[in-house]
Amino acid sequence: MSAGRTDVTIGVLALQGDVREHLHALTSAGATARPVRRPEELERVDGLVIPGGESTTMSKLADVFELREPIRKRIEGGMPVYGSCAGMIMLATEVLDGRPDQQGFGGIGMTVRRNAFGRQVDSFEAPVEITGVPGPPFHAVFIRAPWVERVADGVEVLGRVSAGPAAGRIVAVRQGNAVATAFHPELTGDLRVHRYFAELVGEAAG
Ligand code: GLN
Repeated sequence: MSAGRTDVTIGVLALQGDVREHLHALTSAGATARPVRRPEELERVDGLVIPGGESTTMSKLADVFELREPIRKRIEGGMPVYGSCAGMIMLATEVLDGRPDQQGFGGIGMTVRRNAFGRQVDSFEAPVEITGVPGPPFHAVFIRAPWVERVADGVEVLGRVSAGPAAGRIVAVRQGNAVATAFHPELTGDLRVHRYFAELVGEAAG
């Protein structure tokens, strides 16, 4: 798993959301991380994290900052990308309970439902085992999170909620170099998902 380059730079899409937390998690995981707000900044990164936040706002700002097409093209070209929560929604090819005008970047053939866990349950925590991430189940924090309702052929399910009322729901997926989680590893200090992604970026660059 760790045969790739280590001198890679990972961007965090810095339009809205928990940008600082991802920059901090990536740096703590040993990666070089930079905020990305402009197309020129996107050109200089080897991989991109799309943070948690609010996907409808991120969608609007992606247009204002003229980043939608550049990001879409880089993802199509194989740039590794990781989306958490709102970032997962931005990577989905289909969104249920979205705003009619919200648009993402694509990258993962999946249907996600926004705010899927129910309006009463704004946030909750649950154990999740993730394929390819060694160690004990992830202590996953969900905040008005989506879940994945359907995946297309070629999409690997990496994790499901393993206990509680939402047990069995798909919350981590990967298609090629695109990875998404419905939860927020950037908030818990558990760096395993960020390390996993940094290794993927290194392999893709190597
Ligand atoms: N509900 C938010 C959205 O639709 C996602 C929440 C989050 O990222 N914590 O974008």
